[in-house]
Amino acid sequence: MKYPFLDLGKVNAPYCEELADAAARVIRSGRYIGGEEVEALESELAVATGAPFVVGVSNGLDALRLILRAYIANGDMKEGDEVIYPANTYIASVLAISDAGLCPVAVDVDEWTMNIDTSLLEKAVTSRTKAIMTVHLYGRVAWDDRLVSVATRHGLKVIEDCAQALGARTLVSGLHSSPFAGALGDAAAISFYPTKNVGALGDAGAVMTHDKGIADIVRALANYGSDHRYHNIYKGFNCRLDPIQAAMLRVKLPYLATENADRFARALAYQRTIRRADVVLPMMSAEVNDNVWHQYVVRVKDGKRDRFREKLKLTGVGTDIHYAVPPHCQPCYSGLRHGYLPVTEMLASEIVSLPIATGTSVADAAEIGRIINSVEL
Ligand SMILES: *Cc1c(COP(=O)(O)O)cnc(C)c1O
Repeated sequence: MKYPFLDLGKVNAPYCEELADAAARVIRSGRYIGGEEVEALESELAVATGAPFVVGVSNGLDALRLILRAYIANGDMKEGDEVIYPANTYIASVLAISDAGLCPVAVDVDEWTMNIDTSLLEKAVTSRTKAIMTVHLYGRVAWDDRLVSVATRHGLKVIEDCAQALGARTLVSGLHSSPFAGALGDAAAISFYPTKNVGALGDAGAVMTHDKGIADIVRALANYGSDHRYHNIYKGFNCRLDPIQAAMLRVKLPYLATENADRFARALAYQRTIRRADVVLPMMSAEVNDNVWHQYVVRVKDGKRDRFREKLKLTGVGTDIHYAVPPHCQPCYSGLRHGYLPVTEMLASEIVSLPIATGTSVADAAEIGRIINSVEL
């Protein structure tokens, strides 16, 4: 394949030596659980995002699960309470809600941002609603005044699923003073899954919050529920971040701004090249960095999406779909009650992600754009 969708070897190639040095440092340290590397990464993430309390954890799904369980342990939520989430998301957002014994309530998304449609929030709130989980999908910040106002008026916690949007920021005020995704709401989950804008060499994640109490509970829950050695106040888990992954991430985190700028340049090349009536391009706003382009997602109209992917594959262009089946349509959620979600279901049949990671140059993106203009569908 001339233009693979994603080549993780190429993503990490520029950091190979630095990663090897950092790995050697951990091997020699003799400290393989917790310790300095993890603490240093936590502080570096706090500085990068403006979230004062950061807890490194095992992965993004666990970060979300631990946040919700911490709110339950703190008495802010209880089993059976409802959490609103955007229907167009990765299944991990929903798994975290149901895993904590909470009830996921799907809200449809906006056709243009592909993120939660905040005009539908108010009528999704019931007496059992305790939180809104906003997902910055594809790297685009899902945050506006309406979301803040609904959350404030109903006393809801706002949890950000920031797995795809590290480094994104917005001009719209958050609940706190930082403009960065991950520090806008009450608590946020980050994933460092290898394909994310900052990826580990395995699984890793973090919880970020403005609430020290919640950070302390998350830290305890992730470590067998132990607040100090051999003293267990919660029935916890083992969801810790490995120091070896923390060391890998400390190498890559300083390059986040460059990584995101490169992604923007490739998105811009697509935006300027692709011209087809049956291909709808993603919205590109004038607001700087409100999207860190984790995915560049176009929509192919008239039922031609699968044919589009086939044709591109024949010309050597790899694509992917994020996500072909929305969580509420998955077999494991067949018992989940939900309303009519027409935009999410329409998107699921139209969306295609084009190559955007390191390994695809700006020139490649322009060439892929020209191929797209010329394929017959
Ligand atoms: C990747 C991802 C997750 C899960 O993160 P893992 O580290 O893979 O567990 C959750 N939500 C979204 C939106 C994601 O993209």
